[in-house]
Amino acid sequence: MNALALIRERFRARSLKYSIIRFYNLFMRYGMTPLPFAVNLENFVRFLFARDINPTFPVTAITVHRHPNLFRRLQDQGVEFAIHGYRHIDYTQLTPTEMESHLERAIQIFKDNHIDYHGFRFPFLRRTPECVMRLSKYDFIWDSSEVVSWPLPENIPLTDLRRNDYQQILNTYQVRESRNTFSYPWKNSGLIEIPVSVPDDDILSERLGLNAHWIAKAWIQILQKTHKRGDLFVLQLHPERFAMCRSALAGLLNSAMKMNNVWIAALHEIAQWWKTRIATTCEVIASSSGQWMVHGSELTDSRIQLGLCYFENHQQTWKVLQALPARVKAKDKPVIGIDPPIRKEMIDFLKQEGYLFEEARNDQMYAVKIKGDYCFEKAKNECIRKIQSSSKPLLKLALWPDFYQSALSITGDIDGVDIWDYWMRFYGT
Ligand SMILES: [Zn+2]
Repeated sequence: MNALALIRERFRARSLKYSIIRFYNLFMRYGMTPLPFAVNLENFVRFLFARDINPTFPVTAITVHRHPNLFRRLQDQGVEFAIHGYRHIDYTQLTPTEMESHLERAIQIFKDNHIDYHGFRFPFLRRTPECVMRLSKYDFIWDSSEVVSWPLPENIPLTDLRRNDYQQILNTYQVRESRNTFSYPWKNSGLIEIPVSVPDDDILSERLGLNAHWIAKAWIQILQKTHKRGDLFVLQLHPERFAMCRSALAGLLNSAMKMNNVWIAALHEIAQWWKTRIATTCEVIASSSGQWMVHGSELTDSRIQLGLCYFENHQQTWKVLQALPARVKAKDKPVIGIDPPIRKEMIDFLKQEGYLFEEARNDQMYAVKIKGDYCFEKAKNECIRKIQSSSKPLLKLALWPDFYQSALSITGDIDGVDIWDYWMRFYGT
């Protein structure tokens, strides 16, 4: 997409007034030299390191190309970087060949400058399933471009115009709403997709014009909801706004630390964990009457936790949480028995959710038994319905390692370091 088309599209989504404010703010965000941004970024990193937190910063390759020493220095200190496109443009507007050329140039720049990468985040969080498929041909482990939206705090001081503007922005991101969906990783075209949560700093401060008090409230509310549900909260805070959002971030992290069981990790740690979790297989063997022994394989990660879940009134509750090997009580085998054929999509779905399952035997009673089906969607819906209407205990792997109840990751996209990088998004080669 060329510069004018891009600007036109952003204007359409955001209304003229806020787009003008946006362009004014851009001039305030980026200095004429890299120094103001570098100071903010290094303060951000120091602030997190003082709390033992490793952040993840997706950065455009052209920015790495222009300021390699800044990124190498921070990488040496333990910061994770990821690729945020070659330039900061809308990748859904490129042809397959153009997108591949961008990805190859971006990867080459990271390699030439010795900046490691494991993941990718699409600029503007805009991507199509085809874009993700193309991305999966390269050596990325994760993508973090899917957006889960969380409700704004009640009584937030917003005009109807701001609320409409917010809704339009959400539409451009193609968000999944938190009330209808989960917020944890999933396997997407061979990549681990790690959803990012909104509202982020950009929406709260620039689009909605809120101060640090309300930004903290919005983020702490997301933390509380993700903690209650056992979900993941991937925060987006652009480093150039660190000084402005510092107290809100401190409030969020203090709340997370008080909860005492929130896993705070960089995105590559979360992706690696997810790969380990979905690769875990367990053997469930009858021991004595009503008792089952659950063993992991030799390769099972010691951080894997096993739970027994029950459904009461369609609400899932955990009753037991223990490490492997584990002994559990249940009349029927506490796994899902599936009559063949078992489709690969079904296996991926059950592993994603953490349920233990096996090909059904005729002489065995199961907590949940389902028919395999050539239609995955039909089989999956039937499976969910049966799990939720069963009152029998069922084994399930915990979402997070080491007894953590939920997870939090601090990320911040680096679209540019100075005003010249900003203009390179449109005109760079
Ligand atoms: Zn960006």
